[in-house]
Amino acid sequence: MIEFKNVTKRYAKNQALDDLNLTIPTGDFFVLVGPSGSGKTTTLKMLNRLIEPTGGDIYFNDKRIIDYDIKQLRQQMGYVLQNIALFPNLNIQENIAIQAESLGWPRKERIERARALLKQVDLDPDKYATRMPSELSGGEQQRVGIIRALAIKPKVVLMDEPFSALDPISRKQLQDLVLQLHQELNMTFVFVTHDMHEALRLGQHIAVMRLGHIQQIGTGEAIMQHPANDFVRGFFENEHTPRPATIQDLVIKGYGQTTTAPATLKSTATVSELAAALQTAATVVVATDQGARQLTTADVIDYLATKEAD
Ligand code: ADP
Ligand code: MG
Repeated sequence: MIEFKNVTKRYAKNQALDDLNLTIPTGDFFVLVGPSGSGKTTTLKMLNRLIEPTGGDIYFNDKRIIDYDIKQLRQQMGYVLQNIALFPNLNIQENIAIQAESLGWPRKERIERARALLKQVDLDPDKYATRMPSELSGGEQQRVGIIRALAIKPKVVLMDEPFSALDPISRKQLQDLVLQLHQELNMTFVFVTHDMHEALRLGQHIAVMRLGHIQQIGTGEAIMQHPANDFVRGFFENEHTPRPATIQDLVIKGYGQTTTAPATLKSTATVSELAAALQTAATVVVATDQGARQLTTADVIDYLATKEAD
């Protein structure tokens, strides 16, 4: 299990992470998602101590990570980079086995491990093991980048936007591949992306981040069904267009009057549902997070007109 407790990170004037609290169960596929600058990479790199926090503690299996020997800690944390960064002067099996080599694994074992991993990701070792990185496509290189992180059998695999440079088809294939590897390998995956679609496809649990704060943590389903705030909701909408406008959208724009009358609709209902209700009533009262609002047909017409102009 991985736990962040009240973790902060400050760079000079910039508060990159503010009081981060997070639990990642052992064996989970955990996704950190958020726009650029939200603190995802900082969070990830704290796990293998490429970045040290300014405050708070991070625990790995109930022991503070600063109390681990850093080399031993990193051996338990495979790391897949955004830019693939294979060593151009080493062939594929040497690239995969580089960490095993530095740990003193015998050559025969290293090569066996590299070949087994190549097979596992559908790259025929007889064909690929001795090729140079430049002889592989981008998607193939990224496959190698992934299995390289798995070579010494880490307990945790950290992945920082590993697919963002790939075309949509390779991307989909590699998403399937990491899902399959996660099922087969019994490791904890911590995956960073700015793409909500990717987060939903991959994550067993998802943390939505913004400006150094976690907005919501949960299963994709729970986050989709009950977004914690407008930011999370908006983040989905960008990905899930078109979505019918809801009364909430209209209320956020300032339409309607506060009232104490009992509500007959919820703000999560669609604007079309509101319009239908207004065919038989002069006003409809809606329950919102900010209390009851009374809405009229004029509000709907006005809202739709300004929305068209957007
Ligand atoms: P993300 O990976 O979500 O895009 P980062 O963790 O890279 O976000 O960055 C979080 C914030 O910290 C950003 O505002 C970024 O500009 C800032 N930051 C990251 N690294 C440094 C650094 N080495 N020095 C100063 N500010 C940094
Ligand atoms: Mg980043």
